[in-house]
Amino acid sequence: MRLRVVGPGRARLENGQDARARSFREAVLDGLAPGGGLYLPSAFPTLPAAEAAGWRGFPISEIAVRVLARLLGDEFDGARLEALTRDAFSFDAPLVPTADGISVLELFHGPTLAFKDFGARFLGRIFGALLAARGDHATILVATSGDTGSAVAQGFYGVPNLQVVVLYPAGKVSRFQEAQMATLGGNVRAVKVPGVFDDCQRLVKTAFCDESLASLHLSSANSINLGRLLPQSVYYFHALLSVPQGAAGPSTLPETIFSVPCGNLGNLTAGVIAQRMGLPAARFLAACNVNEVLPEFLRTGVYRARPSIATASNAMDVGNPSNFVRLAALHGDSLEAMRANLAGYRVDEAETRATIRDLYRRTGYVLDPHGAVGYAAALRYRAETGDDRPIVTLATAHPAKFGSVLREELGFEPALPAEYAGWESRPILAEALSDTRYETFREWLRG
Ligand SMILES: *Cc1c(COP(=O)(O)O)cnc(C)c1O
Repeated sequence: MRLRVVGPGRARLENGQDARARSFREAVLDGLAPGGGLYLPSAFPTLPAAEAAGWRGFPISEIAVRVLARLLGDEFDGARLEALTRDAFSFDAPLVPTADGISVLELFHGPTLAFKDFGARFLGRIFGALLAARGDHATILVATSGDTGSAVAQGFYGVPNLQVVVLYPAGKVSRFQEAQMATLGGNVRAVKVPGVFDDCQRLVKTAFCDESLASLHLSSANSINLGRLLPQSVYYFHALLSVPQGAAGPSTLPETIFSVPCGNLGNLTAGVIAQRMGLPAARFLAACNVNEVLPEFLRTGVYRARPSIATASNAMDVGNPSNFVRLAALHGDSLEAMRANLAGYRVDEAETRATIRDLYRRTGYVLDPHGAVGYAAALRYRAETGDDRPIVTLATAHPAKFGSVLREELGFEPALPAEYAGWESRPILAEALSDTRYETFREWLRG
């Protein structure tokens, strides 16, 4: 796979400094490109729709094996890639039709009940494989306000050659999130910081620059890592293969609209990558809450980063989405091309909550606030355009993770899946720092 760099590091690479081509391996181990840019494949292999149509009825793990072999086949030994892909795609993503004629792709059946499990589990496994091949080890440092840390902790749990250290602000993550990070043990160490998320972030950033910690081989599992992004293309193919065949017949895939709840735009970018590989996505709906940087850009042509505003769909409260430059590059940095392929929607809190209530009253289906933003965009798109092609909307989190919002809107809290029974009683193994000074954290790390 040939890579290019988009965003801040691009000029530097084009000027010749650090201009040697980076491989996918380096992109995974480095995370960010030199100069702060983002890696992106410079071309995509195509997957003919007629070939993909032959995979109908396959479980998602089999589709993942085939899509990722096409993308990464020249980077890894085939049997090894296949084994780690199967291991990463260990849970299903069912497509559930609602009475509105819209299908909900449930991406929340992984260990942390959110779609980030797909990217985190795959990244953990390729990271481990790359280190093992070099006879190397690394310590992944993550600062979290809750969700990213739990996805990385669960995604990297048990991977050989890797230690994970997750820092979270004491008392400021939900009990469920804390249980996901701090009850694992093994290669995952959770650290409770007596401060706020920004303190955790500062400790991690300082540690990355501290040469006295070189022997730990500190690394990050950043959300912009290409190894987290590519596996997310898989479920778009999986969704299309689950859409009823219709008149098009069994040897083709139906042209489909995808509605994607957006934050840092990784999910949407992965969808466009699938489209570049041949997925017949007719259009993407970029569904944002009031943090609507992308919809505003599509309207005005002006990119305006801003402080984020807190909403019920809090994983989408992003004021400067990190994957924007990738998304633009995939459209040749053309506003016209972006407008043709992406329709922006801003869904405010009242509409999000009304969508949760109305959908439940009409159909009995329960959506979390993130999924509801995507669903609201899908309803509006259909009403505005009359487009009668299939619509798939992505549900990114299990409703039980947002019990308090659902109690307010529906009068009850959805239950967690049965396998989570008893999570409250598992012992919290987190170690607590006595204060937020860097020296304290460094001594702990050197342990
Ligand atoms: C991270 C997240 C999003 C936003 O996804 P991006 O890839 O950052 O756009 C949406 N919903 C949930 C539940 C998330 O955790």
